Amino acid sequence: MRYFPLFADLQGRRVLVIGGGEVAERKVRLLLEAGAAVTVVAPELNDTLDAFVRDGLVSLLATRFEPAQLGGVLLAVAATDDRAVNAAVAAAGRERNVLVNVVDDAELSSYIVPAIVDRSPLVIAVSTGGAAPVLARLVRAKLEIAIDESFGVLASLLERWRTRLKAAFPDVQQRRHVYEQAVQGPVADRVRSRQVEAAEQEMAALIAGSANAATTGRVTLVGAGPGDAGLLTLNALRALQEADVVLHDRLVSADVLALARRDAERISVGKMAGGHSVGQGRIHELMLEHARAGRRVVRLKGGDPFIFGRGGEELEFLAAHGIAYRVVPGITAALACGAYAGIPLTHREHAQSVRLVTAHTGDALDGLDWAALAQERQTLALYMGVAGLATIRSQLVAHGRTPSTPVAVVENGSRPEQRVTLTTLGDLDAVARDGGIRSPALVIVGEVAALAGQLHWFGAAPRTLGALSAAA
Ligand code: SAH
Repeated sequence: MRYFPLFADLQGRRVLVIGGGEVAERKVRLLLEAGAAVTVVAPELNDTLDAFVRDGLVSLLATRFEPAQLGGVLLAVAATDDRAVNAAVAAAGRERNVLVNVVDDAELSSYIVPAIVDRSPLVIAVSTGGAAPVLARLVRAKLEIAIDESFGVLASLLERWRTRLKAAFPDVQQRRHVYEQAVQGPVADRVRSRQVEAAEQEMAALIAGSANAATTGRVTLVGAGPGDAGLLTLNALRALQEADVVLHDRLVSADVLALARRDAERISVGKMAGGHSVGQGRIHELMLEHARAGRRVVRLKGGDPFIFGRGGEELEFLAAHGIAYRVVPGITAALACGAYAGIPLTHREHAQSVRLVTAHTGDALDGLDWAALAQERQTLALYMGVAGLATIRSQLVAHGRTPSTPVAVVENGSRPEQRVTLTTLGDLDAVARDGGIRSPALVIVGEVAALAGQLHWFGAAPRTLGALSAAA
């Protein structure tokens, strides 16, 4: 190990920064955050540093660097763009036993500043000892994703409870066990849901010994988005990476599933349009069974769990059974299909509102308020509409929407095999009959649909069917 890692207490300690530009400014900011007494040595300062001096945040030696300036200094940072000056600082530091960092020059430095992830009081420092700073930044970025803001809140909470925990569990082994339960169980869960008061109660229950393993299982309802794994939220990724069990729908793409923890048990509870599937009752049973066994269950749904995803029913069931849950929203098909087809769902000139409508065959279609749906200047995003295309056309036209209204059918939105078909409302049954449209497909009705012709950017250009193509 070439460098010894340590966290230094700089409160009130003198640190000398040589340089007055942007690089020096960045170091000064960080040092001030750590409470250091900063002196800047520079003949000239940039505006920010100048303001720091005027506000009394740092003191200034408006001169060139002299070795004597290192007297009484704990650390120095050389941040000039003159290598000779930086080297002089390094040499003077060696002589006087003052640690010197020369920014971006590991060779001249006697200490280096790591890349950090700040979740104070939790701070993670990453360094390659100057060997590959780019790699250190990459690792830092990964940690930024994996370690969310709640870790800092949790660390503060545990700090507050330290004395009480020590009194309640004098035995180190036992105490460690309680800490482990806290950071992996309901205490951490509550913190993540930003229910700090409830987290404190869970902590009290842990100490009282009234919390048991059965309460540690929980379900996270996660929106997997429409297919492109890049559309997952950071919270969705985090949930997938700590899942013990993933109960997923058939619509969830393989790319998304691949991001789950490698040894997580994956259970398909796929629902095929018209085909066999695991019933909703069985899904409820599976969630309950795994959560009660103390496992972290991710219930992974295509798109967003609360948009035609029966997420509401699943939460009602969990709430009724006292199972803890969280919800991570996802990008719903309408948003993704609009974006990936180049169709802005609202537009100042064409549509002031957008409706998300489920257009399942049969009863669901009959129950819709077609008069409201047929109004102009709005966009309709119809889910599960493949089998109902003919009904959609006849009802909307019967209720007054013009047959020339543009329609886009987006199959497999955001996936490599995405296909966009442009047509008009009047030609929609022809498309249903001859277009070979397959599920999953989203039907977008409204003036904005025509914009796909100009604004498409993903995958193949849209094809046009019916009158639109005849006119073209
Ligand atoms: N909860 C999901 C919707 C589930 S209903 C969401 O928020 O997106 C299933 C319907 O969603 C499909 O029949 C189809 O209409 C639509 N859908 C889901 N993914 C899609 C995709 N990648 N492309 C087009 N439509 C999609």
